[in-house]
Amino acid sequence: MNTVVRSTCPYCGVGCGVEARPAVNGGHEIIGDKQHPANFGRLCVKGAALGETLGLEGRLLYPEVDGERMTWNAALDETASRLQAIIDEFGPKAVAFYASGQLLTEDYYAANKLMKGFIGAANIDTNSRLCMSSAVVGYKRALGADFVPCSYEDLEQTDLVVLVGSNAAWAHPVLYQRLVQAKKLRPQMKVVVIDPRRTATSDIADLHLALRPGSDAGLFVGLLNYLLQQQPLMTDRFDGQSDATTLAAGWSLAKCADFCQLESAAVQTFWQWFASTDRAMTLYTMGINQSSSGSDKCNAIINVHLASDKIGRPGCGPFSLTGQPNAMGGREVGGLANQLACHMNFEPADIAKLGRFWGSERIAQTSGLMAVELFEAIARGDVKAVWIMGTNPAVSLPDSSRVAQALASCPLVIISDVVRNTDTSRFATVRFPAQAWGEKNGTVTNSERRISRQRGFLPSPGEARAEWWMISQIARRLGYAEAFSWQHAHEIFCEHAALSGYENNGSRAFDISGLAHLNLEQYDALEPVRWPVTTASTPAFKSWRSNGKFQLVPVEPELPEALADHRYPLILNTGRIRDQWHTMTRTGGVPRLMQHINMPLIDIHPHDAKRYGVTEGDLVRIASRQGGMVARVQVSDSQLPGNVFAPMHWNQQFSRRGLVNGLVAGVCDPHSGQPESKQTAVRIQRW
Ligand code: SF4
Repeated sequence: MNTVVRSTCPYCGVGCGVEARPAVNGGHEIIGDKQHPANFGRLCVKGAALGETLGLEGRLLYPEVDGERMTWNAALDETASRLQAIIDEFGPKAVAFYASGQLLTEDYYAANKLMKGFIGAANIDTNSRLCMSSAVVGYKRALGADFVPCSYEDLEQTDLVVLVGSNAAWAHPVLYQRLVQAKKLRPQMKVVVIDPRRTATSDIADLHLALRPGSDAGLFVGLLNYLLQQQPLMTDRFDGQSDATTLAAGWSLAKCADFCQLESAAVQTFWQWFASTDRAMTLYTMGINQSSSGSDKCNAIINVHLASDKIGRPGCGPFSLTGQPNAMGGREVGGLANQLACHMNFEPADIAKLGRFWGSERIAQTSGLMAVELFEAIARGDVKAVWIMGTNPAVSLPDSSRVAQALASCPLVIISDVVRNTDTSRFATVRFPAQAWGEKNGTVTNSERRISRQRGFLPSPGEARAEWWMISQIARRLGYAEAFSWQHAHEIFCEHAALSGYENNGSRAFDISGLAHLNLEQYDALEPVRWPVTTASTPAFKSWRSNGKFQLVPVEPELPEALADHRYPLILNTGRIRDQWHTMTRTGGVPRLMQHINMPLIDIHPHDAKRYGVTEGDLVRIASRQGGMVARVQVSDSQLPGNVFAPMHWNQQFSRRGLVNGLVAGVCDPHSGQPESKQTAVRIQRW
């Protein structure tokens, strides 16, 4: 293809628009799309290096069953027959899908429809469970819907940005650049960074609160108390305010400062700025969500915005940043095990509605297994078949060596992936070759609810196919041909859009029924658009607010489950580095992205380095109750004493002993099922 093709970056939830242009050497050059409202032409180093990830080295190109190459027809027949045999003998709950925020909305929709609508179980969960499921619970409890009430434009209109549990400079770089630019243009805008680590994001902070790890809820519950002392609540606006305000009343400045291990004066400065600023935004991500009380932390943040009316207005709001390009699309189609499609719930009316729309009497009646539970169920033998789509749980899930053991014991492991050999695919009985970015076609939704097209500009190599095609082929072989008769991603998108408006009547915030009748040409030309997309003219948040009262959720701040003790005296924090993506299956092959950090590291405070007898560049073994890894020491006073940091990315191909999630316990938030990846008690010794 010789023309310029506009698409969307496949990495983080900023969702930058890109242009793919044929390069003189025969490859493709990827540049930022100046027309895309998420980035206006900017790209970070990962996005700019996309053209270097398009080679075919290491690709899975043909279907395989039991290690033998097969035709698509034979592989699909054999896989469907094995799935059917397991369902017949053990019931629908013995099979599961584990999906990914890398999937396009059309793929996600197809997977969710097959599992929840026709197999009749809800065992479809996703790696987005590890990323933002606490944020979903927070929004649903407070606003009655999984509705992100902010946009990137708000950054240019706000007077105070609070970044909490977010190293946006590395994890959401283009959004961070936009923030830097906004501050340059409006120097009166203040930035508060709340993070135990001093990161690249702290560079623009007017105030950095290096609080005790995991104590964030204390800071915001105290702020709620402070706000209520300044100005009483307009009680007609809220349900549930009395429990929330009673709990908050106990959180004085002194108590908060003690709980968060901060100077009282610094806490007070933050509270004063928030209370006295008319327009304030709080941006939060993994440092809040990946916690055994992540949902409550999200609600502690949303509470202060509700109580001070800093929500639903320009430059205001609690803004959860998603980690992946289509974590939001997964939320919309019901790719989480505890929700149904298009923001419907496991309630009789919604189940009946979905049954009518899909023409199925087999709709799942109750929630399925969430990510960590799902792999525990595989380990117990309760789940006997799992289809893993575009993700690498043997590296990315907590307690990853147990995940590997579970997969080794599972009778049927189907993987659909781009890469042939991953830490997960070595357990595969069936391998389906998937189209990669640049080959596949569909839509993704970014952090600000903006739906953008990913467009293919390369031919599919070998026999790679779209995931929605594989799913519909399996569905047809299981006997559901009519419901899975799609010929093109466009038909799936229109069905999804129609379902979003089906018997909706304003009862569900997610509504893109205005896109349900796009023809193929219009779908191909679809410009980035924020949902809802209906014929109604009321601004989205106002319209949603008019549906009912919001909820102040009572929050009792809790510390993490994992506390240091004499055997494991340090707390390990895990997270992203600037130039790598997830488990490095794509970015790890780009030499220039390896130049930033080329091996597993552990950041450690100088006092701790001295205490444990290690120096810069030493190799150390890090051990937790779950397992161990080896990393190179980087001595840095950006850490708090007693705390260490290690990147989450390394897989066995790039470092056999560098898998950090082998250390992390599968302790989860009871409401969201999101694992506590940010706090693990560890010890170190020279290796
Ligand atoms: Fe891609 Fe995120 Fe970088 Fe934008 S900020 S180019 S979406 S990785």
